[in-house]
Amino acid sequence: MKYRIGVDIGGTSVKLGAVDAEYNVVEKLRFPTGRDCTSEQIINGIIENCKILIEKYPIEAIGIGSAGRVDPVNGKVLVAGNLPFVDEPVTLKVGKALSLPCYIDNDGNCAIIGEKTAGACKGCNDVLIITIGTGIGGAILINDRVVRGHNNRAGELGHFVIDMGGLECECGLHGCFEQYASATSLIEHTAEAAEKHPESIIAKESASGIDGSTAFRSAKLGCPVAKQLLDEYGKWLAVGINSLVNIFQPEMIVLSGGIANEGENLLSLIRPYLRPEANVTVTKLKGNGGIIGASLLGTPHGA
Ligand SMILES: [Zn+2]
Repeated sequence: MKYRIGVDIGGTSVKLGAVDAEYNVVEKLRFPTGRDCTSEQIINGIIENCKILIEKYPIEAIGIGSAGRVDPVNGKVLVAGNLPFVDEPVTLKVGKALSLPCYIDNDGNCAIIGEKTAGACKGCNDVLIITIGTGIGGAILINDRVVRGHNNRAGELGHFVIDMGGLECECGLHGCFEQYASATSLIEHTAEAAEKHPESIIAKESASGIDGSTAFRSAKLGCPVAKQLLDEYGKWLAVGINSLVNIFQPEMIVLSGGIANEGENLLSLIRPYLRPEANVTVTKLKGNGGIIGASLLGTPHGA
């Protein structure tokens, strides 16, 4: 059996895996990244970790998904917020070092390629994926093709405005969807609520640190403050999703990212506010969607 390597370059770590012909990640490795790393360190890290997998499996190609602006035709990461890449010819360096075909695409596009081939929207031709994390990313699939825009920058599903004159966004607009519906926003509201209601369950749960799951955990323990905060969060998320449904009328919208691990607890928050035709679900591939999708670049699935 032939295997392919999928590499998922994120703002805090690089995950890579050997993927078999049935889209299973048979072995997974990871190493940390960040603003302190040089691009050389990250690329060498990818090469060294790929070598570990190449020794064990008959690898035929390597696919890389990266955060930031990617030029898949020329194999470059042009710029990426939390990463040191500037006009970096990643596929040239990795492919040459390992003597294997190497492909690259944006991480959102890799996620949707993974989901439509092996995940929650298998068999669907018109799908959106919304990745909820530090910000909100995403990708658009229409007629089974990834929509790229003329400059490969389409699919910025976190950056349409849902509150004109609202919170300033680093993209230069005000009131973007991600300012209200990202994990960062939920974490900020959790911290505010904990401070405002020091006797609440959410305050106690926040004492040892806050992440995207703190409010969900507190609500499960019966905290009314957390329940109200999550209801508000669900409303913002649904507002954005409803607009996307009106524009694209997708068969399905797949939510991914850390918050999507909440599964039905997340879906039940947004359901009361969704348009009737909105078919929203969560990723089935958990943390592996980006790796599986990247591994399919350079195949008919990866177009
Ligand atoms: Zn924005």
